[in-house]
Amino acid sequence: MSTGLKLYFLSLGRITCDTNALVALMTRATSLDPHPVCKFEPFPVCAAYIETPGAKLLWGTGLRADCFTGGEPESTKINIPISRDDNESLEHQLSLCGVSPEEIDYVIMSHLHHDHAGRINLFKNAKIVVQRREMERARAETQINPMGTYLKADIDIDANWTLIDGDLDLLPGVKLLFVPGHADGQQCLQLELDNLGTALLTSDACYTSINWGPPMRPPGVLDDSRSYFSSLRRLHAIAEETNATVFFGHDMAQFDTLRKAPAFYD
Ligand SMILES: [Zn+2]
Repeated sequence: MSTGLKLYFLSLGRITCDTNALVALMTRATSLDPHPVCKFEPFPVCAAYIETPGAKLLWGTGLRADCFTGGEPESTKINIPISRDDNESLEHQLSLCGVSPEEIDYVIMSHLHHDHAGRINLFKNAKIVVQRREMERARAETQINPMGTYLKADIDIDANWTLIDGDLDLLPGVKLLFVPGHADGQQCLQLELDNLGTALLTSDACYTSINWGPPMRPPGVLDDSRSYFSSLRRLHAIAEETNATVFFGHDMAQFDTLRKAPAFYD
């Protein structure tokens, strides 16, 4: 059955950091190499716009606009500096797809970390779909630290929050998979495209192809390692069963090769 979906990848900038944050123990000292040199490399900040015959969806919103104008915490400037080109604002990227923020029906949040949840208040007419556990975690965490991995300013907003519990068949060909581990309420997006077939958008349930494996490797940022690996095993099983194309959350090498808006997958 045809779904008529179109999948556009949106480029929203880069974060540069120690590669051990993406893959734990990427730089490992050994007896042969007792002082290995750590690498400080960029990874992409991205989102995806999905057009269905009946609705317009956005998968993630990237970083807050003020992160690009010096509004980020000092520790961020030192540890994970952020950059983007002029054409990498969310508004511009959506305009390349021929859509405005007001037209978006659903904003689906893979989780609420600051590099994914920065522009939710731009989408006045959309349902903001997030796992209830993720919202509870983000609210609790930002009570203690308003500017940590979650930013209080991102979530303390008047939005049409739509809280869900577990997997959800949202629309024909659009399924949300609850895959906790990296974040308490992490979810992935499974799409059925007419030509490409099944697409799995892992977001931070799997940062890069190195984390995917084999062997599977943990990221440096992890809420719960047991659920992380059981979620990743589940994604492997789905990918194998459906012969899916897997799109990782922060893989620069893969992102460089993808079609990006205005080009799309169908
Ligand atoms: Zn994350």
